[in-house]
Amino acid sequence: MRYALTHSGHKYALSRVNRLKVLPQAVPLVDSMMLYTHANTILESHETPFIREMCDKGWMRQLPEEMTQEQVALQYRRNPLENVHTINFEFTTHCNLHCMHCRSGIVKRLTETNVDALKASADLFLEMGISRFTFVGGEVSRYAKGWLSLVRHLQERYQALRESSPHWRWRELKIILLTSGWWLEKTDFQAAGETYASTEDYLTALKEAGLTHLMFSIDGPEERHDTWRKVPGLYQRILRALPKVKAAGLHPRISVVVKGNTPEDLSYLGDFADLIYDFAKKDTTHEKVRTILLDPDNFSSNLVDINNAVQLSESHFHLSQLPTESLRCKAFFRPSPKLSVAASGEISICPLMNAAEKYGNLHQKPLIDILNNLDDNFIFKLHAEDQIGQYLPLMDPKLFGEHFDHLCSLRTILNLIARKMHDRGIDPQQLSPTDHEALKQINLDVARLTGHMP
Ligand code: SF4
Repeated sequence: MRYALTHSGHKYALSRVNRLKVLPQAVPLVDSMMLYTHANTILESHETPFIREMCDKGWMRQLPEEMTQEQVALQYRRNPLENVHTINFEFTTHCNLHCMHCRSGIVKRLTETNVDALKASADLFLEMGISRFTFVGGEVSRYAKGWLSLVRHLQERYQALRESSPHWRWRELKIILLTSGWWLEKTDFQAAGETYASTEDYLTALKEAGLTHLMFSIDGPEERHDTWRKVPGLYQRILRALPKVKAAGLHPRISVVVKGNTPEDLSYLGDFADLIYDFAKKDTTHEKVRTILLDPDNFSSNLVDINNAVQLSESHFHLSQLPTESLRCKAFFRPSPKLSVAASGEISICPLMNAAEKYGNLHQKPLIDILNNLDDNFIFKLHAEDQIGQYLPLMDPKLFGEHFDHLCSLRTILNLIARKMHDRGIDPQQLSPTDHEALKQINLDVARLTGHMP
């Protein structure tokens, strides 16, 4: 019989190739079998209890007779998990702020309550060699009861894996909290069901739980940041907090919404760089801004005119200026660097889709089955086969307008229209009169989801 690695099994092998610290013959059977199959593409063997176990675990699969070595090798090269190095745990969509630019301003508010399910998913991701985990919301620090026990679990499980597999060079574990900083300079405040006396008290608790990095959301220079967040003084509170974060033994980092790209537009980032990194006196603002933007532990994204941010749109481009082929987004079939576990349990890729891709829900299906079959998903195929462009004529410009600021706003609208048409079995190439009626309703529903209609 012939066996091959699944997407998860291939990721497991990939994360260990070239990271061996001992001679190959010294590694445990599971690792040597994964590496052997990775190196030879296919494993020819009669079924042994061990191979049966590897298949039951979802690391390997028996191949159909007609499948060729080249086809298996192509599947390895196209493995959607290959470039996934970060997992976002969304945990909650509840938030105590109502930011003008929020891309989740209209999403349903919910919080994950099954922390054990998230711990089990963390175990699988760690075994697959993923060692960077970001907690994003909503506002996790305020509403995500149990998130710190998941942080502790990640640390314990990572240490246990390292001790049980000392023959690999393990990547550093990074556990990051993304926060608005609402709790800074507060006293006796409630955070995720616990009460903290002060900022320092909370920072100590985060460190003790095993958090490694604390990332603050920054939307621009002081005035824009505080205006968009509708919290006067927040920008300065974050700047004052950075030395305290370092003193608590945590790495301060920032997640920046980039608007404009001239050095002047970004010079304010120099303030944060000075407090995060140790620069020599002679270093210029330009070098400091570069350091912030090139540090993979910071995050930067463009303002996308979707959800709340539709109101901030400056109509940068007209539909007619857009080459249809630019609508294809590689992330939906080759996600990099992250996958998200949404607060609903859905596995998601695009931060704008509110987990509407339907790759699978870890409360309804084993996570490893979802990961091993990502390429069966409609949205995956829509972009892998570059079929998204055919939905552009089906979008109602009376609802969405003809001007956009960001390509991803349009991609999100078309993905949601395509998804809803697919779910109703409507073929975009053969629309019947009833389909046209349904399409009107689909455009209305999507316009409400994307913030283009109240
Ligand atoms: S559509 Fe845009 S935001 Fe969504 S995954 Fe693609 S590049 Fe990212």
